[in-house]
Amino acid sequence: MRLATAEINLTALSYNLRRIKALAPGARVMAVLKANAYGHGLVKIAQHLNDADAFAVARIDEALALRAGGLTKPIVLLEGFFDRADLPILIANNFETIIHDENQLRAIETSQLDARLSVWLKVDTGMHRLGIEPEQFEAFYQRLKGCDNVDPKIKLMTHFSCADDTNSPQTRQQMETFERLVADKPEARCLANSAGVLGWPQSHGDWIRPGLMMYGVSPMLNQVGPEHGLKPVMRLTTRVIAIKTIAAGEKVGYGGRWQSQQKTQLAVVAMGYGDGYPRNARNGTPVVIRDKRYGIVGAVSMDMITVDIGTNPDGIAVGDQVEMWGPALPVEEVAACAGTIPYELLCNVTPRVSYEYL
Ligand code: PLP
Repeated sequence: MRLATAEINLTALSYNLRRIKALAPGARVMAVLKANAYGHGLVKIAQHLNDADAFAVARIDEALALRAGGLTKPIVLLEGFFDRADLPILIANNFETIIHDENQLRAIETSQLDARLSVWLKVDTGMHRLGIEPEQFEAFYQRLKGCDNVDPKIKLMTHFSCADDTNSPQTRQQMETFERLVADKPEARCLANSAGVLGWPQSHGDWIRPGLMMYGVSPMLNQVGPEHGLKPVMRLTTRVIAIKTIAAGEKVGYGGRWQSQQKTQLAVVAMGYGDGYPRNARNGTPVVIRDKRYGIVGAVSMDMITVDIGTNPDGIAVGDQVEMWGPALPVEEVAACAGTIPYELLCNVTPRVSYEYL
């Protein structure tokens, strides 16, 4: 019997993509597939996204894995490149790259390429991660226009830092800065991540870059995917492998971080940080067994967690399936119980977990 399993619901994935398109009807979709498609399986997810207009990944290796998997859509490198030796790889594989600094621009200006490189000029409007400064924008744009090895359609991009808060003045300021810079440029614009798609319709532009919401999960503070009409794609499950009874006052797990108040039963569940389950999940973090929620108790260990099932009125037994997150238990909620964000939980699922595509 399989223990830790990530069921990936491809029907939900397609549903979410349709929902995204309905939310941003005028925009083309660059589906964000970095970090193994947020832990869902890079090539399998890409193969199921026929209706996306392009894919976006962070690194060249991820893009090469997509091409090796037979995917032919445009692929955008969100981290760009930093070594001029990568340029022929970009050309040979028809990868589009972000341009975010002077070194990249100089490498392009001084390289002979076999074809024109397709570029996205990225402006730092307030995230302060990748992107040229607003004051550099016009000069970069003109220099790229002057490169005969660059596709003259220079696409324009920026990234939000606070779009998950729909009241953030920062997002408004970022949009204004971007619009001021690009107002007289004819080329395509791309601003919105999932939070932009959901919370900032003014930001939709010509292209959107949804990641998390495609997987059915909410990027917004204190909300879950289904509240936005999305369906969770991943269901992480495992099995109960032992049931035991402990007396009142017993301490459970490494470090004895939880103590029973009364005699109780524990279900020992085959899931731990070795599967990607967060070690910081606090006492009481829910799991679902036989359609009911129970709380974990004691420290999460590498392979197992313990769940307090009280007097076990539902007759939970060895072999029962346990949902760690999925349609019955939002990953957003588990992340909050572990002091982190759903992105991290999804990306952290380890290769020990079996994947089943439904
Ligand atoms: N665009 C860029 C540049 C990103 O770094 C990311 C992810 O972090 C995304 C888009 C997608 O963001 P989200 O998963 O919040 O939609």
